[in-house]
Amino acid sequence: MKKYILITAVLMAAISADAQQIAVIKRNGYKLVFFNQERKPDTALQTRMINTFFNVYPTLAAEYNPKTLREVMITIDTAYKGVAETDKGSVKISSAWMHKHPEDIDVITHEVMHIVQNYGESVGPGWLTEGIADYARYKFGVNNPAAGWSLLAYKSTQNYDNAYRITARFLLWIEEKVKPGTVKTLDAQLRAHTYTNESWKQLTGKTVDELWKSYSEKPEV
Ligand SMILES: [Zn+2]
Repeated sequence: MKKYILITAVLMAAISADAQQIAVIKRNGYKLVFFNQERKPDTALQTRMINTFFNVYPTLAAEYNPKTLREVMITIDTAYKGVAETDKGSVKISSAWMHKHPEDIDVITHEVMHIVQNYGESVGPGWLTEGIADYARYKFGVNNPAAGWSLLAYKSTQNYDNAYRITARFLLWIEEKVKPGTVKTLDAQLRAHTYTNESWKQLTGKTVDELWKSYSEKPEV
């Protein structure tokens, strides 16, 4: 309920500023409220972002969490200094970042994966949440090569809890070399708040430290 009140308030404020900046799009049972704060939105880029959402979000939902929210809001924020962040069903993306990196469209894939994850007050570590989101971007992203985005090759200075693309590559290695389906199970456990440090051993027969040691010895994927 709170979410709807918030979205309504944002919409009202935006409509009074410039009705052109709001797009409400419904496709295949999903609804996207796209709020672009730019004075002169780049409509081609905006269309690509909207299409990316409708391409990846239902796929991520089907793969990880069919009960995920049906309504999402994406704001292209002109004042935001970060790259992107997500809070419940609302994604904020830096306008400046997107204009500097227009091919980095899968920022959306990473961020909407956080909506699908829906870990709430997570019982798991933040590095794993971010690693899973980048694993999902790797697996389901639509434009990663053009963006120059890839998982980070193994280096001896890394550790599994470095998060993002380092953790994501470790997860990929587990999927390929140890136990397929581990990411989906970890994700489900995190959402159900049943994840513990023991999960790794239960799922793969090895602790996370043992897995990392094996990965460091033979990190090919
Ligand atoms: Zn993230």
